[in-house]
Amino acid sequence: MTRILPSGLDPQAFDAALQSFAGIVGHDALLTSADAMKEYGDPYAFAGDDAFVPSAVLLPASVEQVRAILAIANRHAVSLWTVSQGRNLGYGGGAPRVRGSVIVSLRRMNRVLEVNDECAYAVVEPGVTFIDLYEHLQAGGHKLVASVPDLGWGSVVGNALEYGRGYTPYGDHAASHCGLEVVLPDGDVLRTGMGGVSRGDSWHVYPRGFGPSLDGLFMQSNFGIVTKMGVWLMPTPECYLSGSVCVAKESDLEPLIDVVRRLLLDRVIENYPVLANTLSVAGCFSPRDRWYGGDGPVPESVVEDIRRELGIGRWNMRFALYGSEAVVDAQFAAVTAALSRIPEVRIDGRKYPGDSPAGEILPMDWSQIGIPSLDMLAAVKWRGANGGHMGFSPVCPLIGRNVRRQCDLLAPIMNQHGFDYMGGIIVTPRCTLQIFEFIYDAADEGQFREARAGCKALLTAAAAAGYGEYRSHLEHMDDVARTYDFNGCATMRFNSLIKDALDPNGILAPGKQGIWPRRMRLQAGTTGR
Ligand code: ADP
Repeated sequence: MTRILPSGLDPQAFDAALQSFAGIVGHDALLTSADAMKEYGDPYAFAGDDAFVPSAVLLPASVEQVRAILAIANRHAVSLWTVSQGRNLGYGGGAPRVRGSVIVSLRRMNRVLEVNDECAYAVVEPGVTFIDLYEHLQAGGHKLVASVPDLGWGSVVGNALEYGRGYTPYGDHAASHCGLEVVLPDGDVLRTGMGGVSRGDSWHVYPRGFGPSLDGLFMQSNFGIVTKMGVWLMPTPECYLSGSVCVAKESDLEPLIDVVRRLLLDRVIENYPVLANTLSVAGCFSPRDRWYGGDGPVPESVVEDIRRELGIGRWNMRFALYGSEAVVDAQFAAVTAALSRIPEVRIDGRKYPGDSPAGEILPMDWSQIGIPSLDMLAAVKWRGANGGHMGFSPVCPLIGRNVRRQCDLLAPIMNQHGFDYMGGIIVTPRCTLQIFEFIYDAADEGQFREARAGCKALLTAAAAAGYGEYRSHLEHMDDVARTYDFNGCATMRFNSLIKDALDPNGILAPGKQGIWPRRMRLQAGTTGR
């Protein structure tokens, strides 16, 4: 087998760099085994596909070690790729954009540094998972709820930096962070916002500071390595209601969206609801062949049979309410009254004391009250036990007719590539983030390649219709970046300027979000100066 090396390095130069890295992190924290490369590769890549495979993994234990790693990488021109947990499933997992990059995994920097009960926030290192933070809050008796995404094993920091989402009112994780500590590519250390005041105590309570707000520069970027983050938490409510709404017809989606928009804008509903179509719900707990054994997408008549058998809607929405019991009751009455305008709508609500232990809450109601789990891993087994998925994630205004237009444009393209349209829509007060999931059997090369081709086809069609993506798999980062084309790709010219200023040797995460350092730009054929 040929050895995978960082781009531009020969084996001797790489060995010299590894020697230096080992001197910093220790031999135990320098991984080069095939198993480790697999662990940090894309878990949903077909076995022989090595497009996004690392050459080594470093596990620093401190900010000082991160700084030293950057110094060595600069000296030896080694491309690095940062992960916190490396569980960015559906978008590449822990894998680097450039084959052979050395992974800097921050899994060992896993301390919850502070929990502030009065101002309701925590400060975490990147290796802290959602499960860790939940357990820490429980063990300490803190009456605070951390928002969690679908899978609890991801990093609180990594998820926020990648614009991940959860389902409490704090579920816009990028917006619910407050204050970052960042190591820049030259090893300098910066604290954003009020963290710039070294003797202050307001770093995690006011997100800005004095002058330009810098936090956004370190999210979905390759401008620094984040080593600490403040995260806002929700005080445990007296009462939590998990609500569900089912509508019977496909055409009910538009009125449902328009009614929900007003409920969100009025803050009657304050969390982030999720919409799922019939197949998406069925896929959460059953394989496709339980319903249909044929080739091509599940036919319409079968979808209707599934809907009836499961007693669900063509579209199903979950939402949550929080507060005193009287407030929750009043909000639920308002939600019910507003939605009752849709014929045959079914609305249910389950109420719990806000501090109920996990064992007293139905698992399907966990995520909206911040209880982490790994249950959603089952949802990718739709087409076989080796389930894999690749997400295409465009943004759309939260207006019924716009969402309809997006679905009508993109769902048939998925079908043409042989994939079922399993609609999953994150709802925010003004936009939807729809995840068009290509679910495939990762052991089947044909399905794997078709998922990539289908994703590219969606991207092309969506871009022509003016839809941009908010998150993408490594494979499509350049393509997505190019869709941000206003004024001759002014966004990328700006990103390239910053990249060259901060990282002149181009060592940190080259290619992330389509941002390439100067030395690789021509080679990659991307825009920039
Ligand atoms: P999670 O395990 O929560 O899914 P990852 O660790 O996979 O998150 O991170 C997602 C992406 O965010 C990574 O691929 C990387 O590009 C970026 N990233 C993660 N952690 C950091 C960090 N500490 N500093 C800078 N970028 C990061």
